[in-house]
Amino acid sequence: PQYVYRFGGGVSDGGKGDKNLLGGKGANLAEMASIGLPVPPGFTISTDMCAVYYDEGEQFPESLRTEVANGIAHIEGVTGKRFGVAADPLLVSVRSGARASMPGMMDTVLNLGLNDETVVGLAEKSGDARFAWDSYRRFIQMYSDVVLELDHGEFEEALEIAKEDKGFTLDTDLSADDLRALVARYKAIVEDQWNKPFPQDVHEQLWGAVGAVFGSWQSERAKVYRRLNDIPAAWGTAVNVQAMVFGNMGDTSATGVAFTRDPAKGDRAYYGEFLINAQGEDVVAGIRTPQYLTKAAREGASAKPLSMEEALPEVYGELAKVFDLLETHYRDMQDIEFTVQQGKLWMLQTRSGKRTAKAALKIAVDMAAEGLITEAEAVARVDPSALDQLLHPTLDPKAPRDVIAKGLPASPGAASGIAVFDSDTAEKRTEMGDSVILVRTETSPEDIHGMHAAKGILTARGGMTSHAAVVARGMGRPCVSGVGTLSIDAKARSFRVGGREVREGDIITIDGATGEVMLGAVATVEPELAGDFGTLMEWADKVRRLKVRANAETPEDCRVARGFGAEGVGLCRTEHMFFDAARITAVRQMILAEDEKGRRVALAKLLPEQRADFTQIFEIMAGLPVTIRLLDPPLHEFLPHEEAEFAEVAKAADVSVDVLKRRAAELHEFNPMLGHRGCRLGVTYPEIYEMQARAIFEAAVDVAEKSGAAPIPEVMVPLVGTRRELELMKIVIDKAAEAVFADKGRRIEYLVGTMIELPRAALKAGEIAEVGEFFSFGTNDLTQTTLGVSRDDAARFLSAYVEKGIYAKDPFVSLDVEGVGELIEIAAERGRKTRPGIKLGICGEHGGDTASIAFCETIGLDYVSASPYRVPIARLAAAQAAL
Ligand code: ADP
Ligand code: MG
Ligand code: MG
Repeated sequence: PQYVYRFGGGVSDGGKGDKNLLGGKGANLAEMASIGLPVPPGFTISTDMCAVYYDEGEQFPESLRTEVANGIAHIEGVTGKRFGVAADPLLVSVRSGARASMPGMMDTVLNLGLNDETVVGLAEKSGDARFAWDSYRRFIQMYSDVVLELDHGEFEEALEIAKEDKGFTLDTDLSADDLRALVARYKAIVEDQWNKPFPQDVHEQLWGAVGAVFGSWQSERAKVYRRLNDIPAAWGTAVNVQAMVFGNMGDTSATGVAFTRDPAKGDRAYYGEFLINAQGEDVVAGIRTPQYLTKAAREGASAKPLSMEEALPEVYGELAKVFDLLETHYRDMQDIEFTVQQGKLWMLQTRSGKRTAKAALKIAVDMAAEGLITEAEAVARVDPSALDQLLHPTLDPKAPRDVIAKGLPASPGAASGIAVFDSDTAEKRTEMGDSVILVRTETSPEDIHGMHAAKGILTARGGMTSHAAVVARGMGRPCVSGVGTLSIDAKARSFRVGGREVREGDIITIDGATGEVMLGAVATVEPELAGDFGTLMEWADKVRRLKVRANAETPEDCRVARGFGAEGVGLCRTEHMFFDAARITAVRQMILAEDEKGRRVALAKLLPEQRADFTQIFEIMAGLPVTIRLLDPPLHEFLPHEEAEFAEVAKAADVSVDVLKRRAAELHEFNPMLGHRGCRLGVTYPEIYEMQARAIFEAAVDVAEKSGAAPIPEVMVPLVGTRRELELMKIVIDKAAEAVFADKGRRIEYLVGTMIELPRAALKAGEIAEVGEFFSFGTNDLTQTTLGVSRDDAARFLSAYVEKGIYAKDPFVSLDVEGVGELIEIAAERGRKTRPGIKLGICGEHGGDTASIAFCETIGLDYVSASPYRVPIARLAAAQAAL
């Protein structure tokens, strides 16, 4: 098999279609080379080698050595330089690159090929000793950190001391001699920590770096990132070896990163940062404050150092052309890395740029308007779950705020929470139920779990393309970065700014749209959902087949849901209405009653309340279907706990507290989720369902009379396992309906159906459909009962299950399509056979999950139902599923 693929110098062994084989970075380097862009020559070791490497006990097959030697020969041929030869030494970078971009996961080694001899050769050949020694000290530091895994603190300290000794503040102030001395110091640090001298053999350097890239695929932080982003461990990473180009060769050299459009707002403007006389990661690492790319951006930020457009106008012009070419070629916004070596532009990376939800919407809609993509493609471009960012509140512009600092608006959205200063604490406090803002000098890949746990991220250093900014935007977390005035004392767990101190646990607020940092919590307002959001949703609705309803039981939820475009209610959980303080006593009286007569007394008190609930919901959902689930939970959930509560119920029911307590003890269950709940309540106490049905029909008839738009109640019986159960309940419901219709002299349409949430119900769906007029798949319980996994207790072991690949994802979050999905398919098929056209829907968490919605589309369900805030997500996901 072939493992090495070349690019550059007129050769491209691969292209953008080869991401699986070459990783994203390698595939796109080959693609850029093939369309004639200036790419330093190099080669990619394919992702296949990653598996081979691990299979062979972290060894490389002999054949790879020959292939790599040929790869190096290719680079030497194109550049005319020789690897490890002092006269005109070839230096390379060794870069990781997985299929999906894994930002910052595996660090790149730059300037590889330098040693005590080649550094002298490089200095002579380039006529720039400072540059040569700067490259060598960078190389030793990076290699020691990434490949030898030595403690990098000592290197940073040595650099600081070197600068301090001279009274310098910038790395660029150091002279060739200073840097030569620093290299000597670095080598001593290596020898001290590693007990061996820094490797001088360039081939040993190369294989060490290649091994480190493959080795880092199994690092802890890579595993965490994969888990959070659903990236299979089997994919592996590729390794790219590429000729170095140098942005650190003086004032006509530079390095930068750019987006072809604004990744935060989506505006059509080049967007990026660069640094003159710098290399590689200087820009993202926040070592110096980067300069703006365009004149307009610099002026907009009233920043001083010249933009690239002003400082290097010719190369900037060339770069702008490349941006346009890449965007047209890839038909998407690109995230680009480039380096200018003495006035010559080199392209080092391109990929589809990460963007905020807001930018994703705007870019998709704009590109469709520009004719670059179709409307359907625009719909496909926006990640439904990312809409979440837009659907949540932002800071109330009128609320008072105590602004203590301002940084860069790195990722939009607002968040309040307690300040914490390390990622482990962020995770811990979040688990304890706190909202957390993670405050760091800068973040690194080790902080991924803390950033994920936090509601927002605040950093003292780093620009708009810093690690914190990029990762936060990807995760949809608000982020304010580069707050230079912030002085963080991570050890003391506090920061100072403008004479004020914030300690761990103090509440702060950040606004990722303005960059403001505030003391205390600030009030928020609902988001505005017009503009690009509305346009894209319209396009989505055009292609969507699945209907989208909401799970809602309060008028407020129903209103929000309709605002978000819900086409009815898919699940109205009546028990939620019973917890209301004003009613709970009557509910308890009903539950604790000794007999039917006692229950009816209490139910009579609840009837008008329940009717009022339904009236409001029917009014808001006028003309739309509303699925109402009759009482479902185990009764003990409503039981009184405190003495005073018992006393209150005793008074209302006119019995003694002791009698009540005995009755409460009788209701105890060992396994309540499989106990006296669902339709089992209706079977044993039909008067409960009778009251609920009456309330539904009285309300429906009233609203039909008043508004003219009759609601369409769908009365849903929960936890049915057999035909007979549903039949008994349908008799109760139909009788109640007839009584109300006779009473009011008016009929309305309604349906009686069931929730399919037991495996038996799914299997016997053919029989159940003889009675039931619709099925709603209650996938929360169906998952619980099919897997035999308690959803309330699963947290303790499910993450281990996901980690070990037993389930690809948490089956309570994303439907277990293979298992639970098969039952749903069986039920749908058998139900339709008995009753062609039977209405089928899904409610439960899965109704708002993209992958689960795609499954619902493939088996042709009629609708999905999701919580109100996830309705737009479901609309978009349903559209994508239909494409
Ligand atoms: P990451 O995936 O973390 O961005 P990269 O491999 O892209 O890692 O490289 C890190 C930095 O080094 C980037 O700024 C990149 O442009 C720079 N770089 C990588 N290879 C070269 C090279 N051959 N010449 C100059 N700079 C390089
Ligand atoms: Mg990196
Ligand atoms: Mg990169």
